[in-house]
Amino acid sequence: MSERKPLIEVKNLRIYFYTYAGVVKAIEDVSFTIYEGETLCLVGETGCGKTVTSRALTKLIKPPGRIVSGEIIYYSPRGPINIVELSEEELREIRGKEIAYIVQDPGAALDPLYTVGYQISETMVDHETVRDWKEAFRRAIALLRETLIPEPERRAKAYPHELSGGMKQRVVISIGLSNEPKLLIADEPTSFLDVTVQAQILELLRELKARKGLTLLLITHDMGVVAEMCDRVIVLYAGTIAEVGPVERMFYRPLHPYTTALLRAVPNPLQRMEKLEAIPGTIPNLINPPPGCRFHPRCPYAMDVCKRERPPMIEVEPQHFVSCWLYAKRG
Ligand code: SF4
Repeated sequence: MSERKPLIEVKNLRIYFYTYAGVVKAIEDVSFTIYEGETLCLVGETGCGKTVTSRALTKLIKPPGRIVSGEIIYYSPRGPINIVELSEEELREIRGKEIAYIVQDPGAALDPLYTVGYQISETMVDHETVRDWKEAFRRAIALLRETLIPEPERRAKAYPHELSGGMKQRVVISIGLSNEPKLLIADEPTSFLDVTVQAQILELLRELKARKGLTLLLITHDMGVVAEMCDRVIVLYAGTIAEVGPVERMFYRPLHPYTTALLRAVPNPLQRMEKLEAIPGTIPNLINPPPGCRFHPRCPYAMDVCKRERPPMIEVEPQHFVSCWLYAKRG
């Protein structure tokens, strides 16, 4: 793992939303690395900042949101670039091209007025990967074939409403792949699909990633998906990183009290569990987040220091990091 090349380094990222009710401190001092060729998962409860973090990677934070501070260093083929400093024009080279998204709801992502073949072609023509529409349409059909859509020539001329949910998701994946991205970000790519189709889409993503040498950032709250797909996991809590580590260690030896609670609250695909346990309390209001460790009001091990000071990120074992005073004290 340590020999891996970083593709993206996020450093001390802060994202705030300036609302009428107050400033929502959605992401607070978040740092992490995405290595080339890995599948990294962002997990956590709804509202923990998974989607906001992933959208920040191509500066897709719309007002009233703003990246307040921090760097997002992308090691592009042209050298390192700080995404945060790029203009919208400069971002066009990267967004949807070198870093592509697969969104949660394929139905909402596709335009009902255009055929899916047109929509895949448009992504290539827009980014000038292909200038000729006929060539783009030919490639769109090839992408539909690669994503295992039956009769791709016929389906390319179909409108979104003529396709099943699973097929729409394959079309969205085709759009994501159309400019041969280095990083594919998949935000809950199976949440709108039924269980059998979910398994097919995950298998497809795994297969495409291996074949194309992609790096995959997967956002999910489904521990089954994490166990199936991921090399490393980042656990987010209330806009801060609780724990980062290789997937097996996170499942078998979670360090952070929140990770432990999260694993007890959902079916754990790698361990037999007697019963599920709800996490006591609720996610804090991020206009006035708890001082110190944001998890302290829900943590059974909270100490005085947890209520006053933010815990540092500590490497407890190789590549396994935790932000918790329990480990700082032991260290
Ligand atoms: Fe619990 Fe303190 Fe660790 Fe936060 S820092 S998880 S409150 S023990």
